[in-house]
Amino acid sequence: MPKKNKEKKPLTEEQVKRRNYVQDVRRSTLRFGLLLFVYNIIATAVVILISAAIVFGAGLEFSGWTGFIFLIIALVVDMIISFTLTSVLMYRSNSDIERIKQALNQMMEGDYNVDLKIKTRARPFQEIAGMINELAKELDSVSILKRDFTKNFSHEFKTPIASIKGYTELLLEDKHLTDEERNKYYAIIVEQTEFLSNLANSTLLLSNLESSNIVIDKVDLYIDEQIEEIALLSYSEVETKNIEVDIDLDHWVVNASKDLFQDLWMNLINNAIKYTKVDGHIKIRDEEDESEIRVSILDDGVGISEEALPHIFETYYQERQPGSNKGIGLGLSICKQICDAFGWSIEAKSKKGMGSTFTVHIPKNSATEY
Ligand code: ADP
Repeated sequence: MPKKNKEKKPLTEEQVKRRNYVQDVRRSTLRFGLLLFVYNIIATAVVILISAAIVFGAGLEFSGWTGFIFLIIALVVDMIISFTLTSVLMYRSNSDIERIKQALNQMMEGDYNVDLKIKTRARPFQEIAGMINELAKELDSVSILKRDFTKNFSHEFKTPIASIKGYTELLLEDKHLTDEERNKYYAIIVEQTEFLSNLANSTLLLSNLESSNIVIDKVDLYIDEQIEEIALLSYSEVETKNIEVDIDLDHWVVNASKDLFQDLWMNLINNAIKYTKVDGHIKIRDEEDESEIRVSILDDGVGISEEALPHIFETYYQERQPGSNKGIGLGLSICKQICDAFGWSIEAKSKKGMGSTFTVHIPKNSATEY
């Protein structure tokens, strides 16, 4: 019968990790056993040497009853020493297990301020302690984020609601308002209502993106055409500020969700307009290398300070500067989440007073030239 040539399947990364872990556990168990064995041998040797020294020192013969009694004493002493050594080692690992249990209990009660230190040097123990410390740190930052999110969220909602309430009461109660004043207050109410509606929509979108609770209906989108269309939507603001918008893009088509794609560029272009002064300039360009296409939105506006730059993609983060009063601090975190959802990435470069550049990196495998 012909022999089947069975090819060995290469192990997956997960299988290699598991195999290494099992080998590690085996090795450290063996090391622990060896350690105990060596301790016992040393203890036995010490007891025999001391007994021999006592016997010969006393000028006694190591034979007959004397030899037998010494042998018994030596064995008992050896057993006591071995028992003590084993107990010390067991005590150490038991108290470490107790520490691990306490740390896990603390975390289960919602207190993530854990810094677990254990005495056993065996690698699996040290690894477990490291993992628990890491998990505590991770959960701590998530709980801080959650707390901040709720705090910011209610704050962002409270301010416009208070303003709508105030102006509506004024309109209802003050019978002596001029038409001009009335119109001004109505305009503020409409503006604040729009702000609230934006805030609700953005928060919902962000929360759906964060929990991957969003159906991404992908279609083929022509990057240049889409971006030009989106830029046109902001025409009136561009006109008011007399900003020059210059778009020069190659013809790329990507497979992405139309709505999310629109949100991404709209946020970036609106920010560029918002944070660019009168008579400013905005450029939209692309470049490519063998692995990716980079679409950049460059402006010569107010720029971002060195301290603020690392935080601008965080939820609700805003740097107080001209233009930021019109924002809610969610646009860039939405952009980041959208890029993550498509497997793209986004980065910002900026200098205070010198303008900003936001670049979206699109891997070549999700785009084709047309
Ligand atoms: P906002 O609604 O406040 O604009 P974003 O999340 O869109 O919120 O942006 C976060 C912060 O990043 C803004 O408050 C602003 O300080 C800064 N920022 C974003 N885009 C620009 C830009 N093009 N020029 C200068 N600053 C910017």
